[in-house]
Amino acid sequence: MDAADFRRHGHALVDWIAEYLEHPGKYPVLSRATPGDIVAALPAGAPEEGESFEAIVADFERILVPGLTHWNHPGFLAYFPITGSAPGVLAEFLAAALNQQAMLWRTSPAATELEEVALGWLRRLIGLPDAFEGVIYDTASTSTLHALVAARQAAVDDVRARGLAGRPDVPPLRVYCSEQAHSSIDKAVMAIGLGLESLRKIPIDEEFRLRVDALKAAIAEDRAAGRLPIAVVATVGTTATTSIDPVGEIAEVCAAESLWLHVDAAYGGMAAMLPSHAHVLKGADRADSLVVNPHKWLFTPVDLSAFYTRRMDAIRAAFALTPAYLQTTETAPVKNLMDTGFQLGRRFRALKLWMILRSFGARAIRRHLSRHIAIARSFGAWVDAHPDFERVAPVPLSVVCFRWNPSVPAGSGLPPEGLDDANERLVDAVNSTGEVFLTHTRLRGRIAIRLAVGHLDTTEAHVRRAWELLVSCAAGAARA
Ligand SMILES: *Cc1c(COP(=O)(O)O)cnc(C)c1O
Repeated sequence: MDAADFRRHGHALVDWIAEYLEHPGKYPVLSRATPGDIVAALPAGAPEEGESFEAIVADFERILVPGLTHWNHPGFLAYFPITGSAPGVLAEFLAAALNQQAMLWRTSPAATELEEVALGWLRRLIGLPDAFEGVIYDTASTSTLHALVAARQAAVDDVRARGLAGRPDVPPLRVYCSEQAHSSIDKAVMAIGLGLESLRKIPIDEEFRLRVDALKAAIAEDRAAGRLPIAVVATVGTTATTSIDPVGEIAEVCAAESLWLHVDAAYGGMAAMLPSHAHVLKGADRADSLVVNPHKWLFTPVDLSAFYTRRMDAIRAAFALTPAYLQTTETAPVKNLMDTGFQLGRRFRALKLWMILRSFGARAIRRHLSRHIAIARSFGAWVDAHPDFERVAPVPLSVVCFRWNPSVPAGSGLPPEGLDDANERLVDAVNSTGEVFLTHTRLRGRIAIRLAVGHLDTTEAHVRRAWELLVSCAAGAARA
C-alpha cells in the first residue's frame, strides 16, 4: 500500500469510525451471531494474491460487524462497561504507526519515559504516594500475577534459581483473598507453581467484604500447621457487587505478619479520584502493590493495566535478565522496561493514557465517574421502590445487584430455584431486545441480575430504558 492509497483508505476508515462512534446505538448491543457463523463465512486459507483494501473492508462490514458485541453501545450495562474514547482510539492508531518496542530505554526513550510520566499523573489522581513506582501491563490478570511472583520472590529464599519443587526447606505456601475476589488470583497461583490449594478464600461479611477476623484466624491456623503465608490480595470493587475490602485493617495484619499486600482495584480504584470516594483506597498507601485498570473505568481502549508497587526491586529481582545482545551502557536512572515484567517486547500503551488524561482533563473524568455513580444510585432507588424487585447488595460504586422477586401471597410463592430460573429468563428477555445488555451473577447461592454503569455515553435515559424493559418483561413473565 503506497502513501496515496494509505491516505485514501485511512480517511475512509476514519470516516467509518467517526460514524460508528457517533451512532453505536444503531446496532443490537449483544451480537446475534450464532456459533460458527464467522468461520463459515470466511475461506479456510489465506489468499495467494493480495486483495484490494476495498474488498477487505466490505467483508469486514458484511461478515465481522454482525459478529460484534458493541462494547461502545451506551446500553451496554453488562460486566464492567468500558469505553474506547476518541482520544484513545487516535492514540492507538498513532501507536500502531510508530510501532515502538520499548524493551530497552534506547529502543524507545519516549515510550519508556512517557510511561513514567503518565503513570505518575494517574497515581496522583487516585491519591497514591509517590513511593509507588508504576509499570504498564496488558491486564489486571497480568498485574496480579506479577504481584504474586514478587511476593513469592520476597518470601522464598533463592526461588529464582531453585524454584519450588523438591525443596524440603519450602513449606506449602499460602495466599489469601476473599470469597468474592476475582478469578485472576486463582489463575495466578496456578500459573506460578503455588497450586490452587495454596489460595485460601476468606469468608465475607454481610456487605460482601473480606472478614478480617477470619483472615487472622486462617493465618494463625496455617502457621500452626506449618504452612507459610506469603500474601493477601484485598479487593477494592469486587467484580460481583463492587464491595470494598477493609484495606487499612488488612494492611495492619499484613504488617504484623510480614505478608505482601496486593490491592486489586482494577475497576474500583478510579473512584478514588473523587473527593466523595477517596476513602475507597484508604490504607492502600501501606500496600506493597496495587492494580488499577484504565481500560476499565478510565475510557481507555483495551488493553492497559496500571501496576504500582513500593517494591519494584522484588519485581526486578524476579524478572531482570539481560542476554548479551540486550546489554547497553546506559546506567541508572535509565530504566529498561524489560526488567519490570515477564514480557520482553511491549507496545507503546502509555501514549493513549497520556492523550486521554490530557484530552479529558481530571475535572471531566471526575464528572463522568460521579455521573455513573449517581445513575447507579437512581437505578437502585427504582429497584427499592418497586414491590416486585429487590436489591441484594449495597451500591458503593456504579453497579447494582438486584432481582425480580414478585410479592405473592405467603405459601404460593415461587420456590427459590424457580425464582433463579425466572431471573435468568428475565435477563435473556431483556437482552433479546438488542437495546440493552445486562448480565447476572450468583450471590449467596442465588441468581442476581447485575446492572453496571461505566460507558462514557451512558446516561440516565439508557438505564431508565433498561428498567422499563425489566419491569415490562417481568410483568409479561408473571402473566405467562
Ligand atoms: C475486571 C477485573 C479483573 C480482571 O481484569 P483484566 O484486566 O481483564 O485481567 C480483575 N479484578 C477485578 C476486581 C476486576 O474487576
